[in-house]
Amino acid sequence: MSNTESLKAFNEAKELIPGGVNSPVRAFSSVGGSPLFIAEGEGGYLKDIDGNKYVDFVQSWGPLIFGHRDESIESAVIEAVKHGLSFGAPTEAESELAKLVISMFDSIDKIRFVSSGTEAVMSAIRLARGFTGRDDIVKFTGCYHGHSDSLLVEAGSGAVTFGNPSSPGVPADFTKHTLLAEYNNIESVKKCFADSNDIACIIIEPIAGNMGLVPADKAFLLELRELCDANGALLIFDEVMSGFRASINGAESITGTRPDIVTLGKVIGGGMPVGAFGASKEIMAKLSPEGPVYQAGTLSGNPVAMAAGLAALTKLKKNARVLTVLNERATRLVEGMKKEASACGITMQIDTRGSMFGFFFNANPVKNFADACNSDAELFAKFHAGMLKEGFYFACSLYETGFISTATTDDMIEETIKASAKVFKEITNG
Ligand SMILES: *Cc1c(COP(=O)(O)O)cnc(C)c1O
Repeated sequence: MSNTESLKAFNEAKELIPGGVNSPVRAFSSVGGSPLFIAEGEGGYLKDIDGNKYVDFVQSWGPLIFGHRDESIESAVIEAVKHGLSFGAPTEAESELAKLVISMFDSIDKIRFVSSGTEAVMSAIRLARGFTGRDDIVKFTGCYHGHSDSLLVEAGSGAVTFGNPSSPGVPADFTKHTLLAEYNNIESVKKCFADSNDIACIIIEPIAGNMGLVPADKAFLLELRELCDANGALLIFDEVMSGFRASINGAESITGTRPDIVTLGKVIGGGMPVGAFGASKEIMAKLSPEGPVYQAGTLSGNPVAMAAGLAALTKLKKNARVLTVLNERATRLVEGMKKEASACGITMQIDTRGSMFGFFFNANPVKNFADACNSDAELFAKFHAGMLKEGFYFACSLYETGFISTATTDDMIEETIKASAKVFKEITNG
């Protein structure tokens, strides 16, 4: 496959945009390649500007659960566009999408729409702080909650649970209220409550998808619930990625733990920029203009974005079995690849939740970020490059989750497994 046009485009983009991309993971830096520039999507495929066609397991990093150019989403968007792109005044579509999401999530009575997952989480945390009147928050190493200042934290030195900024430009004062705990390790959370009596909330990806796919243990989530209740803190499920992907009724329906606030994004916009956060009436009543906690957005609830989300979620709700079918396919994919890897002496850890799949080149089960970091990054880079050459587009980082869409057919799954066998053989033979 030639990629001369993509290379040319990347070189030009690098002159104009830092790193040539508008979101860092797209730059392929962790696999040592250079990104493909995309001409168009078609169902389960992605076509680059060199005319190559790939089976797409990224699906825009999650949003496209019905694949590229789904007919009903496309026509809903076109219809909405004809009535105007934005009004900055309420439309009925916002209430319709709100009704739909509320009907799917037991823990959501009221919802507020924003334009990205970052914004949803940032606002949800402000709401939790406003509701409890407390400042500290607990987050887990390896969970990603968007790029707002207080969430760009990494572990400090020694035994302190308070985080340090993980990026220049974030004042230490902005992260000093963020305590870090270890995923699936309840003792580390208890330590946070021992260190602070000012904890407003715990925020967690109940099905972590940003350190590879690492679901939280059910018992761990239940214990988080108990700790929050015992200490008057709120529990926030960040389901920007897992929402509508792992289950149409949220992680609470598969884990048995009920959060106080849920954040959503990705699938909720059907490919358009939408984020949202929702909670009980009582908590949401604190939000302006009903309450004192300020939150706003010029393009929030944008009519075209609402139309896309409405079309996507309506279709999902009508076909409740979709996620079961997608999960069967996702499971077949990772089990098939694991078998081929094993035949070449490579150990893989695999998991799926609904239409999400994850795999690590790792001899041991992955329960947290430290485990994930013990995976073979070099092997992953070779696998990624090999699969790309064969026409299969996987996320260009081992810390990302893979996605199946309804346009990812059984045949594509079989082809992928077959190609993986070839790639694993190439890797092990030298
Ligand atoms: C993608 C993601 C975000 C950030 O969403 P953006 O729309 O990229 O701002 C937040 N939380 C989780 C769990 C995500 O996967």
